[in-house]
Amino acid sequence: MKLELETIPVWDGVKSSSECYICDLMAEAQRYAISFYLGNSVMNPETRVRVNEHGFCPKHAQMLVAANKPQGVALMTDTYLAMTRTKLEKPFNALLGAKSARQAKKAIDQFSEQFADREKGCLICTSMQDRLDRYYYTTAYLWGQDEAFREALSESKGFCLHHYQGLLEKSKEALSSSVQPGFVRALTELELKNLDRIAKDVYWMTQKYKSENMDKDWLGCEDAHKRGVDKMTGKHRVIDPL
Ligand SMILES: [Zn+2]
Ligand SMILES: [Zn+2]
Repeated sequence: MKLELETIPVWDGVKSSSECYICDLMAEAQRYAISFYLGNSVMNPETRVRVNEHGFCPKHAQMLVAANKPQGVALMTDTYLAMTRTKLEKPFNALLGAKSARQAKKAIDQFSEQFADREKGCLICTSMQDRLDRYYYTTAYLWGQDEAFREALSESKGFCLHHYQGLLEKSKEALSSSVQPGFVRALTELELKNLDRIAKDVYWMTQKYKSENMDKDWLGCEDAHKRGVDKMTGKHRVIDPL
């Protein structure tokens, strides 16, 4: 599958000296998606149908509420609630009509099944996942095509471990089998070099708390704990599975 390339944001990212430019791009993708669902699109019948069908995961639902656009959220919730009631009408009636433990069990199973279905596929997670795939694909593709990109990537700070793994996976479809192993090696060298750098910074931070080092220079390691955590876990990930 060939994806649309995101050359400009990926080039900007690789030159940004970030600990993981894919995390940064995902933060931007999330901001964009939140404002999309609270903007004019909420009046669009197609968007409303999709909201009714899929809804949002708890994290993104809370972000929509926190964005302080109550009218848009009310409009979506009005139709989403109505659709949810319609979809669950049968299991609700079965639960109301359960006269024995066997009937209750059957009705609960039916409800649970429908409910699990309803909780799949948050619209914002899905749109972020689409973007993520394009950022992975573009990174691997540019590395295969452009010497200048290869150079810029090798001078970057690498990725969080989560997005490093995603890039490795995506490289299998983005690059030909003659180019892909070179990408895997270069990416891994880059990642290990930067994990070593972070490890040294975190170590120096732990030493700085000892009284004998109190007066020594921080050497730029004041935020090493934060960078270490971000490198290990990824700051902006798509958590909700599709
Ligand atoms: Zn990341
Ligand atoms: Zn979500």
